[in-house]
Amino acid sequence: MSHVFPRHTKNIPPIAVGGEGCYLIDTNGKQYLDASGGAAVSCLGHGDIDVTIAIKDQLDKVAFAHTGFLSSEPAEKLASLLIEHAPKPLDKVYFVSGGSEAVESAIKLARQYHLENGEPDRKHLIARRQSYHGNTLGALAAGGNAWRRAQFDPLLINVSHIAPCYEYIGRNDGETAHQYGQRMAQELEDEIIRLGPGTVLAFMAEPVVGATMGAVPAVDGYFKRIREICDKYGVLLILDEVMCGMGRTGSLFAADIDGVAPDILCIAKGLGAGYQPIGAMLCSDKIFAAIENGSGFFQHGHTYIGHPVATAAGLAVVNALLDRDLITRVQEQGAKLKQMLENIFGQHPYIGDIRGRGLFLGMEFVSDRDAKTPFDPSLALGAKMKKTAFENGLICYPMSGTRDGKLGDHMLLAPPFILDNNHMDELVEKLGKTFDAVL
Ligand code: PLP
Repeated sequence: MSHVFPRHTKNIPPIAVGGEGCYLIDTNGKQYLDASGGAAVSCLGHGDIDVTIAIKDQLDKVAFAHTGFLSSEPAEKLASLLIEHAPKPLDKVYFVSGGSEAVESAIKLARQYHLENGEPDRKHLIARRQSYHGNTLGALAAGGNAWRRAQFDPLLINVSHIAPCYEYIGRNDGETAHQYGQRMAQELEDEIIRLGPGTVLAFMAEPVVGATMGAVPAVDGYFKRIREICDKYGVLLILDEVMCGMGRTGSLFAADIDGVAPDILCIAKGLGAGYQPIGAMLCSDKIFAAIENGSGFFQHGHTYIGHPVATAAGLAVVNALLDRDLITRVQEQGAKLKQMLENIFGQHPYIGDIRGRGLFLGMEFVSDRDAKTPFDPSLALGAKMKKTAFENGLICYPMSGTRDGKLGDHMLLAPPFILDNNHMDELVEKLGKTFDAVL
């Protein structure tokens, strides 16, 4: 009898005992093609020798030094490497242990920045519906996933939510993608005005929405307009790249593709690639300077921030992404996989949209392609899809999002960047088998 508290008490998972490349192996020797990298985590695949050696080497030197007393070599090197490649003016890196912590830190830093600047009235955060920013209370409040929030609503800080930029569902007939993006961005300005300019501390969004929408990028021009609006009202722009960052969408930082620089950027998942729990919040010089020239202390901190072994793993991961030119590979393999999905499933009566960037791809399931009608939630399509795929030896990430109240089902694919053509054939074959059984 297991004493581990599982995610689903009615669905106890098998035990993983091995990981090799794109596969995980359980105690029965069954192999699973990890087509979602867990949840967009395992970007290097399993068993990467360079990362393993980097972790062991760091353990031989020093496993832990509390950042209240000492920094560590890998933390220093990783911060410099990230800043070298990050959108300017990001300049400082605050290491944490995962995505929710990165988002919590970002919300608190945004608040403290305004306090240091003598603007205590800035206390409203604006985020978007159908988004996920993590499961701790602050991050959960920022997210717009009604299902995850429901039972904790009384404990959550008050966050305003505007519509996401979701072209497949939201663009009107006769409206260009650009016009649609501008209309969606306008919701931010309207909400700032409604709340009162001078009361909003930040706007938070995922450049490519992962868990709640299934790899949905914004249309061109949306984030540029968002940046302008934030600047106009002194609102900080926080981009959450916990899922879509670290090369996943074809550039090290997803914001690069949208041509915007946030004031604060959150990363996690692919940063540790599953080898260590690590996340980070990057902030601009302007924000750091406000604290440096003000109180001198960010009123935050966890025991394990900047952990030497976690940052050593992160450093090895980012070096692997750069030295092995894996981001070019993401672009190439991503384009190939998307094309395969379109060729094979593009006319499927129940697949309404195939989308995404790089190796961050999504499919949306609909009961009627023309009307884009979501399936009846009681069918629990996502859960059935996940179970059937898993039985077929495939790990993928089907989810039910909430399209402004109405459920919508989608699947997220986020395979390791080392995915080769044979893996793709296997993936598509197993997906087909799964769709045949469930749809
Ligand atoms: N932000 C985004 C965009 C995410 O997708 C997630 C997790 O899926 C998080 C934050 C939370 O990260 P974690 O689960 O590491 O706390």
